[in-house]
Amino acid sequence: MVCESQFVRAMPGYGDVSTHAEVEPLVAVVPSLVEHILSSASRADASDVHFELGDRMMVRVRRDGMLRPAFAAPRHIGRLMMGRLRALGKIPLCRAGNAESSFSLHCDHAVVRVRLSLTAVVGGEKAVVRFLNHGAHLQLRQLGMLARDLDRYDRLIRSPGLVLIAGPAGSGKTTTLYASLERLAHPGVNVMSLEDPVEMTLPGVVQIGVDHGLTGFQSCLAAVMRQDPDVIAIGEIRDHDSAIAAVRAALTGRTTLASIHAEDGTGAAYRLTDLGIPHPLAGAAVVGAVSQRLVRTTCPACRGTGCARCGQTGYDGRTGVFEVLSLPPRLSGALAAGAPLEAARSIRMGLDQPSLSAAAEQAVTSGLTAWAEVSGLVEGGHDTR
Ligand SMILES: [Zn+2]
Repeated sequence: MVCESQFVRAMPGYGDVSTHAEVEPLVAVVPSLVEHILSSASRADASDVHFELGDRMMVRVRRDGMLRPAFAAPRHIGRLMMGRLRALGKIPLCRAGNAESSFSLHCDHAVVRVRLSLTAVVGGEKAVVRFLNHGAHLQLRQLGMLARDLDRYDRLIRSPGLVLIAGPAGSGKTTTLYASLERLAHPGVNVMSLEDPVEMTLPGVVQIGVDHGLTGFQSCLAAVMRQDPDVIAIGEIRDHDSAIAAVRAALTGRTTLASIHAEDGTGAAYRLTDLGIPHPLAGAAVVGAVSQRLVRTTCPACRGTGCARCGQTGYDGRTGVFEVLSLPPRLSGALAAGAPLEAARSIRMGLDQPSLSAAAEQAVTSGLTAWAEVSGLVEGGHDTR
């Protein structure tokens, strides 16, 4: 049996939300409790909040890429919290199993758009709330590119041809794509994007949601081409359909941006050929490839030793580490001719363009982050130093 004072018990390690530990629990406050957890997480710049209902309710918050326990409550309170989430997402109580919804949350005079995903799990239910505009306010120069890379990238995204934005899942590709489109969008330019799904709306960009099962990227692209576009974005290239759409758009001479899952810039260009694009077409279409990772930045208050501000982790916030690769004729020629990926990588190594590991090293030496954060980037992989 759970006694009254244990009804709502926060777990340590999460600044703002854990202050709720002291609030006397009452069933009547469950709705505002749920909203408080969400708005506190939003204020703390979290990307996701996980509500896990099993024997008890556990709430964890993802911030700077790491999940941290934030809150715990007994099961019957947890059921009410799940009910409140369903109400916010207008998901009927009777609907068991998986459900998705999105809704707006009012937080400090701002409207925060969130996506709610519910799923039945063994012994209970799990809900994940994702803040859709997380990090989206960032401008290109705030992402963490080195000054000379930023200049080169700015020229790349203003030239005709395909620029790929590459990285593993959760590396901030979408943020870079959106920041690039915002940079390009002005009244004299028609910027159009094809996305599956549209994660958030961008001012000055005409966004089209591609229903993968029904229409596909290629037929949407045909419609977009009749709309006199100057810049076309594909988010993201996952299969042959989206790959061929990106290559076609680029070969018409438009500036084309697309995100793609790949390890490095050279690998991103070659990924198109894995997806069934003939080597000569890939070589003709791709003009540049950016690859990126997110690393945690050293807490400025304690310089990494751990303090209250950073929850004793030594880190506060994240930044991108970038390789900005503009393909010289020698490299795109190798791709077009079907040279092996390793041969192309050795050509890339000879270029005077900093690799991902060189950018990571620079981030450490400038005090932005710690060796531990970039060890995987600097020691291993295919990057040059
Ligand atoms: Zn600190």
